[in-house]
Amino acid sequence: MARILVVEDEPAIAELIAMNLRHDGHEVSLAASTDEAGAAVRQTLPDLVVLDWMLPGEPGVALARRWRADARTRDLPIVMLTARADERDLVQGLDAGADDYIGKPFSTAELLARIRALLRRKAPEALDTTLQVGPIRLDPATVRVFVDGAEVRVGPTEFRLLRFLMSYPERVHSRAQLLDRVWGDHVFIEERTVDVHIKRLREALGATGGAALIETVRGAGYRLVRPAPVRA
Ligand code: CA
Repeated sequence: MARILVVEDEPAIAELIAMNLRHDGHEVSLAASTDEAGAAVRQTLPDLVVLDWMLPGEPGVALARRWRADARTRDLPIVMLTARADERDLVQGLDAGADDYIGKPFSTAELLARIRALLRRKAPEALDTTLQVGPIRLDPATVRVFVDGAEVRVGPTEFRLLRFLMSYPERVHSRAQLLDRVWGDHVFIEERTVDVHIKRLREALGATGGAALIETVRGAGYRLVRPAPVRA
């Protein structure tokens, strides 16, 4: 399940896309202009944006360019929609930072396939793939976590947090990044909240030794490490 923002001013097209994405299991929000979309992303960072080129006021490419220039939104996956078939537009769209490009009219099956491919590449934590890091296995489909084959109980927030950390093993995430990517909100939730849930997650994994894999990196944040191979 991914949080997807659809930026499209034509209500019929926006609704069609939203309906298909919801049917595919995603959580969808809508914006009808670059202003609305900018405001929505400042509040909640989505996993992916479907961005129409032709919008009232300002074109979608201008917004894509701004997002790419901002550290918080630099890696935001963007699929650009356009009725314009000109190759120069395509180049301009990709230069502005769109990850993929789809021309109108489009088949919804193709749009969904492109979105899934982009999520797999840039936001794997949003897909229902079973994850394994060292002794920890996480199954999004059944919402269960196992350490060395034994199930451990974790709360819903700890589950999302673990899923995110396991999607990017070894990578350090700041508290602000974790709030954005796990909670979807870096403005209205205190960074301390992350520490509380990391502590709960370690406690849940604790009895089994999985807790040691979640490292605090001083002055930087948290990461999940792959355990060192056992030497014979
Ligand atoms: Ca439009």
